[in-house]
Amino acid sequence: MDNLNALFAEIRNEFPALTQKVHGKKLVYLDSAATTLKPKVVVERVSNFYLYESSNVHRGAHFLSDAATAQFEGARHSIARFIGAEHFEEIIFVRGTTEGVNLVANSWGLSNLKAGDEILITEMEHHGNIVPWQMVAEKVGAKVVAAGILDNGELDVEDFKKKLSSKTKMVAFTACSNVLGTNNDVPLLTKLAHQVGAKVLVDGAQIVSQSKVDVKAWDVDFFVFSSHKLFGPFGFGVVYGKKAILETMPPYQGGGSMISKVSLEGTTYNDVPFRFEAGTPHVEGAVGTHAAINFIEKIGFDKVHAYEMDLLQYATEKLSAIPDVKIYGTAANKGPILSFNLKGAHHSDVGQILDQEGVAVRAGHHCTQPLMARLGVPGTVRASFSVYNSREDVDSLVKAVVKARELLL
Ligand code: PMP
Repeated sequence: MDNLNALFAEIRNEFPALTQKVHGKKLVYLDSAATTLKPKVVVERVSNFYLYESSNVHRGAHFLSDAATAQFEGARHSIARFIGAEHFEEIIFVRGTTEGVNLVANSWGLSNLKAGDEILITEMEHHGNIVPWQMVAEKVGAKVVAAGILDNGELDVEDFKKKLSSKTKMVAFTACSNVLGTNNDVPLLTKLAHQVGAKVLVDGAQIVSQSKVDVKAWDVDFFVFSSHKLFGPFGFGVVYGKKAILETMPPYQGGGSMISKVSLEGTTYNDVPFRFEAGTPHVEGAVGTHAAINFIEKIGFDKVHAYEMDLLQYATEKLSAIPDVKIYGTAANKGPILSFNLKGAHHSDVGQILDQEGVAVRAGHHCTQPLMARLGVPGTVRASFSVYNSREDVDSLVKAVVKARELLL
């Protein structure tokens, strides 16, 4: 552990954001589940792209455009390898997880779902993996059904099995809950879904920065994630889809780049993945994501996992020892996310006191209102940990929660 602590203390220096003070206190950033801070290597890569390489892609005809296209498509290959995809054509660039789910729900959903069909989700989904399905279900007369959770925050797999049937055409669930931290058993749930002939979409927003993703071994049909939660730029994300399925899907948006031939009488569409990428893309998003992948792979997911689990365990022990603290989500297999409330205090008031102490957490419903209804609370306080945090950060959190308790209870 000493070696790991030394390594991650070095890594912390990659994040200049952490050298600043807020409200006169040292910034303790515990909101990585909302977005990770960006390391210097990523920011410098994006900055260099803008300063020296900025040019539109796929337009050919000059040196800079060819170089930008090579960087852009190089990122696609790197991302494919990073998540274990077999073909680079299986990687579609979008704005983020939310747009990714919308793309699949509209393109695959509208052409495959019909009245009476069911879409199975879970009670722990983010709104980004609920609302797009509800919108499509309403259009075609299908139904969204949700599998419940157990009191410890794990998915109720028996309920999930019960709700799977020949009516189920899509199963959409998160690999990791952004509130409870629960890591779902992706291969198991995927196998169960495939047994009834359903397709599977996995929301990878929280898993990509924590552990190795392997879409091929998991056998998922779709996988979506956002770069900003993986040390990369805002406004950029990825849809992975099995090539054979993508090839059957109609375009999501129309415009330049997604076409093969346009006449005033009609249009034929480009091959996948370009069919799904209308207009000038987020080139520096792709380039920055490539740098972010290099950053995390250089550390190695085995070390990231060991370090983050140590922080989670330490924080869980310390917070549990404070009277009146209730923790939500104690699954055996968890990501580095810790949700809690102070009994008798409002989550926003706790969040505000923590902020005054320099401790940045998220307080609210975390875009998971159905989960809040299941937990019977309007919101929680959420601390989430990443590679730049330390045990001292956890100590600052604990000290601030003790102070909030003194002030509020
Ligand atoms: N799903 C999960 C599990 C998330 O944590 C988030 C972000 N909080 C999203 C989806 C939506 O991601 P984005 O806002 O980047 O589209």
